[in-house]
Amino acid sequence: MTSNSYTFALVGYGGMGKQHKKVLQTIDRAHIAGTFDINKQRQEDANNDGLHTYTSFNELVSDDSIDIVLIATPNDSHKDIAIDAMKAGKHVICEKPVTLNSKELEEILDAAKQYDKVFAVHQNRRWDEDYLVMKKLYDEGVLGDVFHVESRVHGSRGIPGDWRHEKAYGGGMLLDWGVHLLDRLVLLIPEKIKSIYCHLSYVLGNEVDDGFRMQVSFESGKTALVEVGTSNYISLPLWYMTGTNGAATIHDWSMNGKVVTVTKHEDHDATPIEAGAGLTKTMAPRGELSTQDTPLPRIKTDIRDFYDNVMKVIEGKEDPIVKNEEVMRIMKLMEAAFLSHKTNSVIDFE
Ligand code: NAD
Repeated sequence: MTSNSYTFALVGYGGMGKQHKKVLQTIDRAHIAGTFDINKQRQEDANNDGLHTYTSFNELVSDDSIDIVLIATPNDSHKDIAIDAMKAGKHVICEKPVTLNSKELEEILDAAKQYDKVFAVHQNRRWDEDYLVMKKLYDEGVLGDVFHVESRVHGSRGIPGDWRHEKAYGGGMLLDWGVHLLDRLVLLIPEKIKSIYCHLSYVLGNEVDDGFRMQVSFESGKTALVEVGTSNYISLPLWYMTGTNGAATIHDWSMNGKVVTVTKHEDHDATPIEAGAGLTKTMAPRGELSTQDTPLPRIKTDIRDFYDNVMKVIEGKEDPIVKNEEVMRIMKLMEAAFLSHKTNSVIDFE
């Protein structure tokens, strides 16, 4: 191993633990010392995947060769594992949602300060191409003045797995997917949030939400709709963004979608069309030459940049890409969303 390499240990070897292993094994200066999972089968999985397994969390954090503990366990356990790992002298990468609420996150951040350790949250969906393309269109003003954004994920398989169904483990879709969509939305529209209104859905009768719809109003008057659905047999687009000069949609992770912008070609006053049982001029289509369709831009993205950034933060060479104050803001935003649902009211946010 070279002197600038880092030794990782994985706590939790389920779906996401295995994914971290896969990515870390492609990073030259990352080395995996081993894993610990409370489930015997998962320990066996790790052994079968060629990883060393520790017999306990204490044994894992007592290994002096480990620099970074990567937490991929259910949400309710993140706080204690993170604090104990930092107390034992390790830097920590933690899965999202970082904790169940902002108070727990505060405790972690206090511990990071106390033990002088780097604590980073894996908000990996900031590296998704669909988000980065929308951000590029927004930042470059391609659609003019953007006034509304919709960001959603729709599926029809209900809540997956076991612990995600239970409140005690931090289950539910707002914490699971909402944390990603909200994290990206507030980076896309870097403004103060004026207010939010959120409705959680319980279509499947679980004790936790199986989806939600949340309206976000920004200081400038821009609005957003963020939506997660797990009983949607037809999926609406991942993204819809509309501005004074055009609109863009991205339908799916294969990047189907398009950008429509207004041309300089004059569009004469519309002629009314027959629509349904009536006539409309307002909703008549535009003249063909007055808009143009262009394909979505494409962006190369690599999630390994996240891990690389964490190592450089430890070395003091870079600022964190995922900043803990951003993570805290999203925890508070989700708390406001739960409150909005409970009280069926618009919540003033910032
Ligand atoms: P999972 O159920 O597949 O795996 C969790 C594993 O943690 C299980 O093997 C379980 O036995 C183990 N575990 C539970 N408590 C433990 C403890 N105290 N010590 C050690 N091991 C323990 O769940 P998952 O889908 O891998 O989710 C794990 C975390 O990763 C969650 O926080 C989830 O939100 C997050 N996640 C993130 C993404 C992403 O894209 N960033 C995707 C999926 C899951």
